[in-house]
Amino acid sequence: MNLSPHFDLPEFLRSDTALRLGIDMTPPPPVVAALTALAVNVLEPLRAHLGAPIHITSGYRPLRLNTAIGGARTSQHMVGQAADIYVTGMTPPQLCRAIIAFGVPFDQCISEFGWTHVSFNPAGKQRGQVLTAFHRPGGGVGYRPGLPE
Ligand SMILES: [Zn+2]
Repeated sequence: MNLSPHFDLPEFLRSDTALRLGIDMTPPPPVVAALTALAVNVLEPLRAHLGAPIHITSGYRPLRLNTAIGGARTSQHMVGQAADIYVTGMTPPQLCRAIIAFGVPFDQCISEFGWTHVSFNPAGKQRGQVLTAFHRPGGGVGYRPGLPE
């Protein structure tokens, strides 16, 4: 099932952890609607702008999967509003900057550890929030505003 010309649903449902743990990845209709909004409003225009494929490393995460991988308790992945992406040849801060400069609407763009988290809220206002993930000295992951220099 295609969500937009270059993105299909299975790309957002792949998870080695889900396979290993036998987690059902069948998305409920509101999740499919949210993933479609993310593809149509953010990923498809961004792909056209960059002229390069966008690879998705994580999309929809049912609660059990999100818990298993230690995802944020309120993660937008759980409702199909977020995807972790990368573009070959671009670092996460570079991809965040490209998203911001392009002016595509987004709720959050987070420079993570080798990937970029981007989200779109189909029901509300896009916050346009930009964060950088970092490893806390005592363990765990923290987020600070903005991007590294
Ligand atoms: Zn993410």
